[in-house]
Amino acid sequence: MNIQNYINGQYVNPINNEWIDNYNPSNGEVYCQIPNSSKEDVEQAYKSAQSAFSKWSQTTLEERSRIMLRVSELIEENLDRLAEAESKDNGKPLWLAKAVDIPRASSNFRFFANAITQFASESHESVGQNAINYTLRQPIGVVGCISPWNLPLYLFSWKIAPAIAAGNCVVAKPSEVTPMTAYLLGDICTEAGLPKGVLNIVHGLGTSTGQAIVEHPNIKAISFTGGTATGTHIARTAAPMFKKLSLELGGKNPNIIFADCDYEDMLKTTVRSSFANQGQICLCGSRIFVEASIYEQFKTDFTNAVSKQKVGHPLAEETKIGALVSKPHLEKVLNYVEIAKEEGGKVLHGGNQLTIEGHENGYYMEPTIIEVPSDECRVNQEEIFGPVVTIMPFNSEEEVLEMANKVKYGLSATLWTNDLKRTMRMSNKLQAGIVWVNTWLMRDLRTPFGGVKDSGVGREGGFEALRFFTEPKNVCIKY
Ligand code: NDP
Repeated sequence: MNIQNYINGQYVNPINNEWIDNYNPSNGEVYCQIPNSSKEDVEQAYKSAQSAFSKWSQTTLEERSRIMLRVSELIEENLDRLAEAESKDNGKPLWLAKAVDIPRASSNFRFFANAITQFASESHESVGQNAINYTLRQPIGVVGCISPWNLPLYLFSWKIAPAIAAGNCVVAKPSEVTPMTAYLLGDICTEAGLPKGVLNIVHGLGTSTGQAIVEHPNIKAISFTGGTATGTHIARTAAPMFKKLSLELGGKNPNIIFADCDYEDMLKTTVRSSFANQGQICLCGSRIFVEASIYEQFKTDFTNAVSKQKVGHPLAEETKIGALVSKPHLEKVLNYVEIAKEEGGKVLHGGNQLTIEGHENGYYMEPTIIEVPSDECRVNQEEIFGPVVTIMPFNSEEEVLEMANKVKYGLSATLWTNDLKRTMRMSNKLQAGIVWVNTWLMRDLRTPFGGVKDSGVGREGGFEALRFFTEPKNVCIKY
């Protein structure tokens, strides 16, 4: 079976007729092919988007909203099919795709279908000058959306939904490693009545297809989620063309545990924040810092709880941790375990590749806990993006704050404490775009989402996303 590009409301083959193998991470087998799209395909997608723009940008908000709500419903109606596709493409447990990925993709369309009807701009009366200023929020035109493989449809729709709600037309590229649900979204958009050309999906490699989107002189804004190195490259390409850029990049998030926390709740959530989605979530708390007085207790309890996390085939009901997304990624993550050992880290649990009976070539790995001798070692500083966490003790608030902030990233942080004053002090000082206190990954789609430092530029979510996907224009009228 072949995946095709979705351009001007039609599924089409790549112009060069070149294809890339797509692997099933659960067994290491090629199960379909995807277009290796070139610049010419991106140009075709751009032209389709450009020709749809004048009509779509003038479509009433009520009508845009109605179509997007229909997309949301159809995603819900196709929950099983989409979840199975996501699980097969990515290696994540089927129950997780059903409970999180696909419902959230549906919510993204529903949320922005509603948000656009509430979006407003300012007006300023210039008192004493007989003038009124108002701000128009106009769609940009054709915009590019590029998303990663860890939460494929979830993050793809998180960009597309606000872009089209704001009246733009889109050229989008999912990760070449997980293209399937983006492919299926094409049909859903057609069925929902999204006009031809409003959304165009081009598949292929980041370095060619993705690069062609970023380089396109008339694609005026790029919303990108992915690694920090890729984000740097994109910024370098796009900046001289003065493109608007939203970059959601990597993280190395601290999970800070004080002795006064609700211990059981913390323990349960920490297992999840460490290993959910095989640890392949940019928000995972991959650096665990524990107050010294409960450190030994935590080590025992955490190791015990993690040892009960069943690694297995994504379709097996009891599986908590599925397969990693690809062979090169598995190798990268395993290599970090070796680096940790060389740096004096002690593997408290896991550290090895796993073979699952009947699926011997799948990309499985044990959930891994590494006790590190210093917060400055590489496994504590570099993003691993797999089922690996580090742990170490701390003695004071000042010490842990310094360690938490002493990385180049600043996406999220989790804090476990029942001390209100400490919560306020720490939340103010943690260098992160999001601070969770006594919880993790609790999301309200109205809130600003994004990171500081090397974790990105700009914010998604709520009206922030609608602001990104529109150009403000000041109109000043003298009367
Ligand atoms: P990559 O940066 O490798 O890829 C992200 C996307 O960019 C893919 O679609 C990729 O295509 C494409 N791409 C690669 N090179 C280029 C290029 N030169 N020009 C344009 N597009 C390009 O990230 P991963 O897919 O490996 O995702 C993991 C990373 O994403 C982690 O660092 C993680 O932290 C981050 N992430 C950040 C989130 C956030 O909100 N801050 C959320 C989720 C993940 P292809 O795959 O085909 O190469």
